[in-house]
Amino acid sequence: MATQLRRVFPRKHYKASIKYLNGDPNYYYRCRMFNFSGGGLYFEPLHSFTPESQVTIVMDNHSPGTYGPEAYRSYLAKVRWCRELSHDDPRRFATGVEFLEKSHSIRGLDVVEDDYTCDLCGKLTSAASICRLDGSGCLCPQCFKLW
Ligand SMILES: [Zn+2]
Repeated sequence: MATQLRRVFPRKHYKASIKYLNGDPNYYYRCRMFNFSGGGLYFEPLHSFTPESQVTIVMDNHSPGTYGPEAYRSYLAKVRWCRELSHDDPRRFATGVEFLEKSHSIRGLDVVEDDYTCDLCGKLTSAASICRLDGSGCLCPQCFKLW
């Protein structure tokens, strides 16, 4: 039955900058999502996730009342599959998740962020960066490894 329900939702291309949390309560990670269906989405995080584990995903372009995934501020999602993308630097993982819960808010993540440069090397970090939850700074993935 669950399989049938998922097929009801067509998959749509949808490029957007998103954030996610991965265990450590002090940081969020910025990356991109590439498509979604009504029941989940596909994104390319900097981490590998174990299938069946849970991840919190936050939409940067939250816009209530719209049809797309930005209709909600955040999602609690279950990882359905995850595999490494071999040719990317920084390393990324192709990941499909299924939504468990949708929310119009998320505690502690309402930081202002129009700053996409790395605090250590000054490089523009594009979509991939690692930021402190208290808003005190962001690093590119390369600098975060050395930190
Ligand atoms: Zn850097």
